[in-house]
Order: sequence, then structure tokens, then C-alpha cells
Amino acid sequence: MGKAIQPQPGILDIALYQGGASHLDGMSNVLKLSSNENPLGPSDAAKEAMIRASHDLHRYPPTDHGALRQAIADVWDVDAGRVFCGVGSGDVLKLLAEAYAGPGDEVVFTEHGFSMYPIYAHACGATPVVVAENERVVDVDTILKACSPKTRLVFIANPANPTGTMIGSAEVTRLAEGLPPQALLVLDGAYAEFVDGFDAGKALVEARENVFMSRTFSKIYGLGGMRVGWGYGPQAIIDVLNRIRGPFNLSAPALAAAEAAVRDTEHTEKCRAENAKWRDWLANALAELGVPSDTSTANFILARFADETEANACDDHLRSAGIIVRKVAGYGLPHCLRITVGDESACRRVAHAVAQFKGTD
Ligand SMILES: *Cc1c(COP(=O)(O)O)cnc(C)c1O
Repeated sequence: MGKAIQPQPGILDIALYQGGASHLDGMSNVLKLSSNENPLGPSDAAKEAMIRASHDLHRYPPTDHGALRQAIADVWDVDAGRVFCGVGSGDVLKLLAEAYAGPGDEVVFTEHGFSMYPIYAHACGATPVVVAENERVVDVDTILKACSPKTRLVFIANPANPTGTMIGSAEVTRLAEGLPPQALLVLDGAYAEFVDGFDAGKALVEARENVFMSRTFSKIYGLGGMRVGWGYGPQAIIDVLNRIRGPFNLSAPALAAAEAAVRDTEHTEKCRAENAKWRDWLANALAELGVPSDTSTANFILARFADETEANACDDHLRSAGIIVRKVAGYGLPHCLRITVGDESACRRVAHAVAQFKGTD
């Protein structure tokens, strides 16, 4: 017994995802800056919509996500018929892997790419192919060289997590144009809304047959606890995803909250502007303390230290000050710490603690 019952190939190769820590033993007033959550929280309209939805919890939710897809279409100027909604964007990415890759196929992503990509690849039995970046920036030529007749999916987060860097639309277009015909380019736009005026690849999705973009309600919309994400892609791919998703994958409160959140563009704009202001303030404050970071386009900065020892020592100091940030050794960045941009007081608290650590305060 035991040995006879085995999971599908690849599943036991998965290392469990490590989420951002959220408490420190024996400490109150802990500042959690480890999961890129929105310090301003969700829009009031989203909270009210969720509570209203609670009165009808005995009803199944709509299976077509029609009202949410229309809201997304209205706000982002996309075709509602080609919007797909999932339980967080992670669900959308996982369904893409299940639908388009399997044993013998390759899934390509970059060395500091989001840590869920190898999990999606292994979970469907495909082979992850990890390619180098150029100084913490995705490199199109290196990706294209790594592609083969076995490549089925290429995952790129733009802006990227945990580096915060991004590549321009000309580079993304060159990547899409250069892929082998059986490969789909997946543009993970989890942080796209933090970039003013960025289309996240929408135009490329509409111009081509081999590009898909995903978006989430977990970051700028402050709804990580609700689990809603969406994707936009060629109709044929949307039709495939709709065949394999759960018919009632999104709960009625989640649909209602997300619809209200996407329509509250005033709140979104406020979150974008506040994030940009305090992100730049924090990056400058740390740089003056001798802790540089690449220019971030997202809601976190990747602080670079002299080496792993200094990064770990700073993390220890931050923890002793009640501040939780993200260690990123698992992303191949042992000398860095990823720090979510909080509100003004959070950013000041981080800068103060790093100054103490550096002995300049
Ligand atoms: C946070 C994040 C997501 C979003 O995950 P959800 O499942 O939508 O909560 C996706 N991709 C990247 C790169 C992220 O950092």
C-alpha cells in the first residue's frame, strides 16, 4: 500500500508557497509590509456592496460573472466577452497552465520571476525553464533563446515582483513576435494599475493571437482577502478557460465587491498617487542611508544591501522594531529585502528603523 497511490508527475516537486509573515511573537503594533497589500484598504463602495450581497447568501452566484466583466470592460476599455474571472489572478494563471501545458512541455519564466510560476508548471507536470535576467530586469533576448518547440507558456510579470522593474511595450511586443508559434505569452499585470496610463499589454492582446494578460483585485484594489482576479485574451483561450473553471468559482460577495471596486476609479486613483508619492519618498530615504533600490514601478521597493549577512541583520532589526518585510533569498536575491510601500507613517517608521540599523540615527 502507500506506494500504489501516487499523485500526478510534478506535484511532489512543488515546494510549498511561503506567504508573507503577518505577526511577530509577543509584539503588538506590528507593521506588515511583506505581502504588497494596499495600506488604504478597499474602497468604501466595495465594502458596502459586499455587505449588501450578504443578504442573498442563500442564492448561488451568477456563473457568467456578467456584471463584473461589464464593469471591467467599462473601466479598462476592453471587450467584456474576452474577460475571464478567477479566484485571484493566481487561479487564472493556474488554469492557463493546466489548459496549455503538461508532461513534456516547457514553461518559461525568469530567475527572479514570481514564485508561483514554478508551482503552476510542476502542478500540471510540465518542466519549468528558468532564464537569467539582466541586472534584475527581464531580458527579452535571453527568454527568446530559451524557447524551444516544447515551450507552451512564457510567464512575465510587468511590473515584476519582487524586483519592481518593468520592460517597455516595444520590448514586450518583440517578445510576443519572437515566440515560437505554439507558445503563449502571459503578461501578469498584478501591479499594472500602479503605473499611470499603462495598458498592461491590452493593445498587444487585441493585436495578436499569442498574448494573454492577467490582473488582480488583490493589490491596488485592496481586496486580497476576497480572491478575485481577471484575464484578457484571445477568444479561443477564454473559451478554453471557461470550460475548465468551476461554474461558481467566484462568490456573490466577491463579485459584488470587485464590481464596486473597479467602478470606484476615484479611490483607485488616490491609491495610485499615494503609493507613487510614498514609494519615491521611501526609496530616496533608504538610498540616502546607503540602501539603494532599482526604480520601482509597483507598490514595493527591493532594497539592496551589501550582502546576505547585512540584509538578514537589517531584517532582524526591523523585526525587533515590529516591522515585517519580505526576505527574497528564495527569489535568488539573498542580499535584498522587499518592502511594501505603506502609508506615510509606515514609510517613516521603516526609514527610521533602517537609519537606526545603519547607525545614523
Ligand atoms: C500578488 C501577485 C499576484 C496576485 O495574486 P492573486 O492570486 O490575484 O492574489 C499575481 N502575480 C504576482 C506577480 C503577484 O505579485
